[in-house]
Amino acid sequence: MTATESLIAKAEAHSAHNYHPLPVVVSSADGAWMTDVEGRRYLDLLAGYSALNFGHGNRRLIEAAKAQLERVTLTSRAFHHDRFAAFCTELAELCGMEMVLPMNTGAEAVESAVKTARKWGYRVKGVPAEMAKIVVASGNFHGRTTTIISFSTDPEARADFGPYTPGFEIVPYGDLTAMRAAMTENTVAVLLEPIQGESGVIVPPAGYLPAVRELTRERNVLFVADEIQSGLGRTGRTFACEHEGVVPDMYVLGKALGGGIVPVSAVVSSAEVLGVFRPGEHGSTFGGNPLACAVALEVIAMLRSGEYQARAAELGEHLHRELAALTGTGRVTQVRGRGLWAGVDIHPRFGTGREVSEKLMDRGVLVKDTHGSTIRIAPPLVIAKEDLDWGLAQLRGVLGVQ
Ligand code: PLP
Repeated sequence: MTATESLIAKAEAHSAHNYHPLPVVVSSADGAWMTDVEGRRYLDLLAGYSALNFGHGNRRLIEAAKAQLERVTLTSRAFHHDRFAAFCTELAELCGMEMVLPMNTGAEAVESAVKTARKWGYRVKGVPAEMAKIVVASGNFHGRTTTIISFSTDPEARADFGPYTPGFEIVPYGDLTAMRAAMTENTVAVLLEPIQGESGVIVPPAGYLPAVRELTRERNVLFVADEIQSGLGRTGRTFACEHEGVVPDMYVLGKALGGGIVPVSAVVSSAEVLGVFRPGEHGSTFGGNPLACAVALEVIAMLRSGEYQARAAELGEHLHRELAALTGTGRVTQVRGRGLWAGVDIHPRFGTGREVSEKLMDRGVLVKDTHGSTIRIAPPLVIAKEDLDWGLAQLRGVLGVQ
């Protein structure tokens, strides 16, 4: 038995089977490359579902974490600590907003956004008690908690987890007429991914996000943008909403905010909206902890330079040019995405997304399938162009095109 087989067998025996990982056991990583326990190297074209936008072992982020580890790592919110004010001020500024509600995981931040929108609905908009409604889109992915999966349209995510949380209306993604029809005077928010990641990197029709912005403003409804996967540089801008000139009422952030080191998430909004909370109404022991704030502050400083966004835009154009050429081969039915982010639908004749991912793994490239026939490409934004080209050559090799 190899070290890989033995470690996977133990993990299978002693962990819940809620994932189906590729059979690779990573032991170290640097930049866009990972090394497994057998000493084999792999190009990472997934980047922890965008949590590793700045690459593995990013020196600036590691140094920021190390320095903070030596000082103080956790106070809980029972006390103030000296990194908290800077984190909230600078994150709010990066978002063009006023206030921050820090949490840890993406799902927690989405839960917090739902709670914020409901409270705003009751305390500011004047919605009658227990009547608040939130409009969401089909194909959404906002996390795995019971309330969030209550408004998922993915049977796998929902089955046998009921009873489900009420208060959500699901409309087709990209369909403004359906959204307008779903709105009532009790609607407090529209919650959307500006690009749906887990669904296969689905970009909505041009003009959809601005129209949602206009509609929500007209109806006094909060526009909540879940930019957990799409935000912080991935699409070539700080936020995916920017491509359409849209500023939502609330950003929900996570993943890359923690630099791939610590879980850091946040709801970022105006003082009118986040000002609804009073002490004791919401919280998290680890939310906004000193280590999280120190790493996130470095992430924010890096994003402020604009260099990662520019790199994602430039390399992304190259990536999409190369991928577009594959659609003419009959092996790939569709390519979608923006910046350094792509969903590639494989023609069923050439195998499932899983089979293509496994063949890529054998050639030293790591991607992950989603929804049967799609593979998602989302390399760290620091990837070298030659490495990206090498990874794409492996994809062409797997698909049998040159
Ligand atoms: N929202 C979006 C858009 C996501 O892509 C994800 C994770 O993939 C989440 C929320 C949930 O984040 P987490 O896995 O950190 O709870």
